[in-house]
Amino acid sequence: MSKGRILVDMDGVLADFELEMAHRWHIYWPDDDIDQYKQRPKFKYSSMKEPIDNINEKFEKIWSEPGFFESLPEIEGGIEAVTSLLDMGYDVRVVTSAGNKRQAFTEKANWIYKRLGDNWVRRLVVTNEKHFIDGAVLIDDRPEIARGHNTTWQQIIYDQSYNQYVNDRPRLSWSDEDWLDTIESTVAQVQAER
Ligand SMILES: [Mg+2]
Repeated sequence: MSKGRILVDMDGVLADFELEMAHRWHIYWPDDDIDQYKQRPKFKYSSMKEPIDNINEKFEKIWSEPGFFESLPEIEGGIEAVTSLLDMGYDVRVVTSAGNKRQAFTEKANWIYKRLGDNWVRRLVVTNEKHFIDGAVLIDDRPEIARGHNTTWQQIIYDQSYNQYVNDRPRLSWSDEDWLDTIESTVAQVQAER
């Protein structure tokens, strides 16, 4: 029996969506101040202080490009963390959204396969509705992930600049010394409440 199911988001937790987005943005529209994404107050890029013309269309153009998702750099420590959680006996699943893009779906599977191998492709869950998925915890950078639904999981916020206003949930970053303690204590708490 597993020690509990841990759901781990991909973009902003394992894969650095933002870094690749900014890199490509600089190439296409060098006059835009895209680097302010690091200080935006909310998850959506449209929450940036200085307006960027046609921001949604530009965002869409980049994340629709073939190869975008497969080229995302790793967030340091993420792959090692999920590997060690699995080794410790947790049932780890990578839970990610591909929007309505078939290309994102296959590229995300390739991203996982390249770094983690066959054994992890079957651990990949692609859904736009993470509240359907059963687990003890979900590690996710996006604050509004439960969308008002009841969930079996407790969210652990993956620490990013745009979610600093959230203070009602546990929080971790792979660079924290105690990331494992945060997960284990949250899993234990959820299991005790069941
Ligand atoms: Mg995310």
